[in-house]
Amino acid sequence: MQPLLSSTRRIPTFRWICHSCRGFTKEAKPREYTSLSSASHALRNEGPARTRFAPSPTGYLHLGSLRTALFNYLVAKATGGQFLLRIEDTDQKRTIPDAEARLFEDLEWAGIEWDEGPKIGGPFGPYNQSQRTALYREHAEKLLESGNAYRCFCTPERLFALAQHRAKLGLPPDYDRACTHVPREESDDRASKGESHVIRLKVPDKYPVYNDLVYGLVRQRGDFTSIPRSQGKGLGAFGSYDDPILLKSDGFPTYHLANVVDDHLMEITHVIRGSEWMSSTPKHLAMYQAFGWEPPAFAHVGLLLDKNKQKLSKRTGSIDISSYRELGIFPETLTNFVALLGWSHNVGRDIMSMKDLIRNASMKYTRGDSIVGFEKLDFLQKRHAARYASMPEESDNFLHSLRHLAVKPIVKLLDERLTKQDLPVYSTYPAGEAREDFISSILHIDAQNYTNPSDYIERNTHFFIAPTLSEISVSIPSFKLHKVPAGIPYVPEPETMMLFQGIVEITDDDWRSEVIRDRISWIIKQGAEFSLAALNEERGSEAIGMTEELDKVMSKAWTKLVHGYLRWAVAAGKPGPDGAEMMSILGRRETVSRLQLAEGLMMRQFTKEKAGEEGQEETANWV
Ligand code: GLU
Repeated sequence: MQPLLSSTRRIPTFRWICHSCRGFTKEAKPREYTSLSSASHALRNEGPARTRFAPSPTGYLHLGSLRTALFNYLVAKATGGQFLLRIEDTDQKRTIPDAEARLFEDLEWAGIEWDEGPKIGGPFGPYNQSQRTALYREHAEKLLESGNAYRCFCTPERLFALAQHRAKLGLPPDYDRACTHVPREESDDRASKGESHVIRLKVPDKYPVYNDLVYGLVRQRGDFTSIPRSQGKGLGAFGSYDDPILLKSDGFPTYHLANVVDDHLMEITHVIRGSEWMSSTPKHLAMYQAFGWEPPAFAHVGLLLDKNKQKLSKRTGSIDISSYRELGIFPETLTNFVALLGWSHNVGRDIMSMKDLIRNASMKYTRGDSIVGFEKLDFLQKRHAARYASMPEESDNFLHSLRHLAVKPIVKLLDERLTKQDLPVYSTYPAGEAREDFISSILHIDAQNYTNPSDYIERNTHFFIAPTLSEISVSIPSFKLHKVPAGIPYVPEPETMMLFQGIVEITDDDWRSEVIRDRISWIIKQGAEFSLAALNEERGSEAIGMTEELDKVMSKAWTKLVHGYLRWAVAAGKPGPDGAEMMSILGRRETVSRLQLAEGLMMRQFTKEKAGEEGQEETANWV
């Protein structure tokens, strides 16, 4: 077992020197990163970084905390350093029982793997603060010894009265340092007799100035307002100081003590955290100073806000990461999405896999808060789906493959639906791999439209269920040629219908998208020639001047007609993937049966129309 406080600490590879000077002090030359931004170069020039994500298990991982974890992870990975996970579980009262397990699960799902931390251990463990309490007590004692901390025996009642009194004066609820007047021997004696007390840091008159990597030089004045004795009347008579509690009366450390001690002992070089912690940083720096330690570099990143500039709430998308997973969002979509919130890059495109994020990592975080627009999430999801579809399915990349991330969830959902709904086409495939292959083939022609399993099933419903007669009856296409000059003869419907036989005639062996596509082109060509010939016959080519232009117009019009008809027949006119690809996947039998149903309906329609026209003619003659 590793001793908690090792006397043979490694010399940190990092010293706190002026950030902009760091690049020049490293001997190691960076590898070649020719196309990287200067910010990415600068980060790599600093050498290996040790970063950490230090969540408290008082809630689950949400967008903001995922981003913090990711930023830290990327900096460690980009520089060849280590990323640590530390569980800050000293506030036992607020700990949620399953929060820790869920954190692990969500981080692992997101692809943010820690090099040291719970489950895997590491040279600076344990990584749960609740298992390091002796260490914090030891360090609080050190500060007592050096006079940088003191015991405070004030009762909760006194502190409450003091806070109330200060509130009346419009002042923050700071402490009046009454207990700094307790002599050291008396303090030791009272403590040894078991008198309840806390240990407070005695903050310096002036907090150290620090160089925030995002905000630049930060100065914070200690707000040590003296309250005139006349007003104080005992309470607050010593002035006010924001001396934070380091060790609570139950012997447990507060966040401030445990966080600083651990960042130092774990040799953290960069602390990247939310700007809500910025007000704690001067206190932390005061502690580093009191201990005589080099502090890490700090980078505070802004909050995530909704469109109304309010902090993201559950209602506006700050849902647990597991909810995104359940919605079918890919891990790389989500990491890509959060990475873009408050980070500027000049990669030239926003779609980035985890590898791309690592490659392009920099600490060019934007100042101020970021507004989260969720439309981007759908956009990124579609782009990542298309990216996966274009990659070979390799077994080592299974977790980030379309099969794992989209095919399997779609099959699961369809199988569930099968218990309530008839899906005749889908159920012709035996359960298991055959169904997966079927879905995979659909995804490979239409991945760029994938958002989540249920929307995708809805979009592609006619791959699973044939359009019904009543469905297609409501939108029978009219065989009109679009955007052709007036006077072009109408399309002779029954003859046109004959052209579609060209598809029915393709044999089973030839039933492939290329062959179907060729046949569709042939139909278009035949149709266009047919119209041109009819036009020629009617008016004579010279009369209207047959031109190449007319050829083009005609073939465009026929393209629209033929594709429109086929989409109507095969998918009830719903938008979806390319028609030839769709027919190829559906198979010859299924396609032909749809074409026949549609043809029957069309022919009945023509007969009806004809009867109507003849009726009209007769009426006209009679009139
Ligand atoms: N435990 C703190 C949190 O829950 C850590 C803050 C920090 O990174 O210092 O976010």
